[in-house]
Amino acid sequence: MDHTPTQADPHAEIRAEVAKLCARFAGEYWRKLDATRAYPTAFVTALTEAGYLSVLIPEEYGGSGLGLSAAAAILETIQSEGCNGAACHAQMYIMGAILRHGSEAQKRAYLPLIASGALRLQAFGVTEPTSGTDTTALRTFARREGDEYVVNGQKVWTSRAEHSDLMLLLARTTPRDQVTKKTEGLSVFIVDMREVLGNGLTVRPIRTMMNHNSCEVFFDNMRIPAANLVGALDRGFRVILDGMNAERLLIAAECVGDAKWFTAKSAAYANERKVFGRPIGQNQGVQFPIARAYAQMRAAELMVREGCRKFEAGEPCGPEANMAKMLAAEASWAAAEAAVQTHGGFGFAEEYDVERKFRETRLYQVAPISTNLILSYLAEHVLGLPRSY
Ligand SMILES: Cc1cc2nc3c(=O)[nH]c(=O)nc-3n(C[C@H](O)[C@H](O)[C@H](O)COP(=O)(O)OP(=O)(O)OC[C@H]3O[C@@H](n4cnc5c(N)ncnc54)[C@H](O)[C@@H]3O)c2cc1C
Repeated sequence: MDHTPTQADPHAEIRAEVAKLCARFAGEYWRKLDATRAYPTAFVTALTEAGYLSVLIPEEYGGSGLGLSAAAAILETIQSEGCNGAACHAQMYIMGAILRHGSEAQKRAYLPLIASGALRLQAFGVTEPTSGTDTTALRTFARREGDEYVVNGQKVWTSRAEHSDLMLLLARTTPRDQVTKKTEGLSVFIVDMREVLGNGLTVRPIRTMMNHNSCEVFFDNMRIPAANLVGALDRGFRVILDGMNAERLLIAAECVGDAKWFTAKSAAYANERKVFGRPIGQNQGVQFPIARAYAQMRAAELMVREGCRKFEAGEPCGPEANMAKMLAAEASWAAAEAAVQTHGGFGFAEEYDVERKFRETRLYQVAPISTNLILSYLAEHVLGLPRSY
């Protein structure tokens, strides 16, 4: 990709440096991991050591204190260079819960260690098998007992749980039938998984169509210190909601990066592959899907930038964050589909990396929020239509 600094892109230097780092982790590295569903430890360590995963942590806590647009530039570049930030992207946005809602003692205890890489905060335990998208229906319960909370329940799709030291956990602390609003009675905790693994906490990996290191997590009388409550008791839903705009904008940036990677691959192959004595890219039937996906990506990219601008200015950005996530996930999927079609049979061959990235980018229309729920949000909160669920 071209990383020439321009006035319009204040993060051109960061992009260039991230691209250099990514060049050390070429397709072969990811293919090997994909085959065994192994975690990209060397890649995540390199990003951590270079300070990229702590850009959002303020300088006083050991990070570089940059804005969301810098984090977006980093994740977009990781994807556009053919790597996969899913192994570690959550660290960037989960940390925000501690930063915005944690006590000073929690910030001092965790943020510098997260920034240095001594502690990994990669796991985010929200989704449960029975609640799904209906988050407030979750059943995991944390009961206060002296200076501790005793947690029982189950999470599913807790990504990176095997490769994280800490988990941010959303659990019920007051039963749903005892609160006036279903969003009340939920609380957020920091779980130090090293202390409870095998002692109240069980983690089981789920094999998925791509290498995502997602897990089922079981809590059986798991004890955590009461001091690990983040924010106010029973007000945890707000803590989670506060982090969602950042999460959506960062995932959208990753999808923009994926779309750029697919489009560059497609254009290169369409120029080079000759069938019927001419490049396949000379056929409009081959050009148009690539060009259409490119246009979709550029529109999504503008929405990511607008969302980041508003976020950094402290303005409400829910609509932009949601639209960016939906448009970018659709653009990356369109670009992925065009890439497979452009590559013909070779789109299915592992050595081209297209099929791997195709599997990886499909996720973002489902997680961390599905497209239907984004459309419902826009219908209700932007267009004033009746709530549909
Ligand atoms: C690989 C992977 C990694 C993940 N990582 C994490 C993680 O780290 N932490 C975490 O907490 N969760 C994680 N998730 C969970 C993810 O956020 C959920 O899968 C997602 O929110 C959808 O929930 P669900 O799978 O239960 O689907 P469901 O809620 O069962 O929905 C199924 C389908 O029905 C549609 N639907 C449901 N309700 C409505 C409605 N009212 N209107 C219209 N359509 C509707 C949805 O859009 C979806 O297409 C991950 C998921 C995957 C697959």
